[in-house]
Amino acid sequence: MNKIYKPKDIDEMLGVLPRAKVAFYPTPLHKLNNISEKYGVNVYIKREDMSGPSSFGGNKVRKIEYIIGEALKDKYDTIITVGGYQSNAAVQLAQYCNLFKIKPIAVLGDTKTEGEPKERKGNLLLNSFLGTELHLIHRDEPKTDFDMNPLWKKVDKKVEEVIKAYEAEGHKVLNVPVGCTDKAGWPSYIEVFKEIEEQMWALGTDVDYIFHANGSAGSLPGLIVGKMLMGSKAKIMSINNRKYGPGEVVGEDDIFNRVKYLFNKFGLECPSDEAIWNEINIDQAYLGNGYGQPTEMGAEAIIEMATQEGLFLDPVYTGKSFSGVLGYIKSGKIPQGSKVVYIHTGGTGGLFIGTDTFHEDLQAHIYKK
Ligand SMILES: *Cc1c(COP(=O)(O)O)cnc(C)c1O
Repeated sequence: MNKIYKPKDIDEMLGVLPRAKVAFYPTPLHKLNNISEKYGVNVYIKREDMSGPSSFGGNKVRKIEYIIGEALKDKYDTIITVGGYQSNAAVQLAQYCNLFKIKPIAVLGDTKTEGEPKERKGNLLLNSFLGTELHLIHRDEPKTDFDMNPLWKKVDKKVEEVIKAYEAEGHKVLNVPVGCTDKAGWPSYIEVFKEIEEQMWALGTDVDYIFHANGSAGSLPGLIVGKMLMGSKAKIMSINNRKYGPGEVVGEDDIFNRVKYLFNKFGLECPSDEAIWNEINIDQAYLGNGYGQPTEMGAEAIIEMATQEGLFLDPVYTGKSFSGVLGYIKSGKIPQGSKVVYIHTGGTGGLFIGTDTFHEDLQAHIYKK
């Protein structure tokens, strides 16, 4: 592979795919002036949280535009997805379903509480506003690791039941995987990489490191392909909010395979396996006890971002991933003067699920204990 892709080449490549494009692009990119000055590293933020179409945007929006693009082409009239009660993906998907007159259904599981939730909070509230047909599956087994919880089997069973019932009534139902990590959406983050490069050039600079929150690995493959196509030197650092390793639902092999899939999809010569593996940099040191479990470093990052820059991070995704940025800077893993782009992937709905779910340090900050 030797052709260096320019932004317009990326646009042309992606332009052939069906896409229900309604969000606001390019999403803004700006410098975090106070944090940059305080830590001696130039930190920029890519505002995927502002992708739209509502004020609760996020990194699922671009993926969804391609998923809906295909769904409309193939004449689906109903979309079902799964996730936790506070799934950001389910909210963003339902927004697009409403825009394109597709019926949104979500089967959501909750590993923390028993019984029906007394109140609709955070993303569950937003889903209720959107009119999503919600099937809430609560745990009745003891609390276990999020991914391994037997609850997810019940969620899958419910999905099958609902699909059967809708199909029996003549509907065409598309089943979108957790996190909207459907292969139709994987190309979307190639565009984010392109926008970051273009926006940094427009600021008269370039980028040394890109940090983002990685979960179901729907965004990372596109970032890697974008980087390789554009011949950029930027190092992509993925701070995990979900455990990877033997027996887990997603892992580094999936990222590798998805990168290869994307090169093949566009009929491009695939780089060597070694070259691809070199681009996969997963760090689980900021995950704490697992998905959705708040961390002290995450609490610190949320407070730092709000008090220095007036911006909001959430405890599940962006607080943890930005704690990774701060950790790398403080430990000197990122040299002084470097140029870092942090991708804000959204998740703002997660701030409104009740302060009792937050880390005690964050509660102490809020209530000045
Ligand atoms: C889903 C999500 C992520 C993780 O993105 P993946 O594509 O699943 O790896 C990160 N941040 C937020 C806010 C999310 O909702």
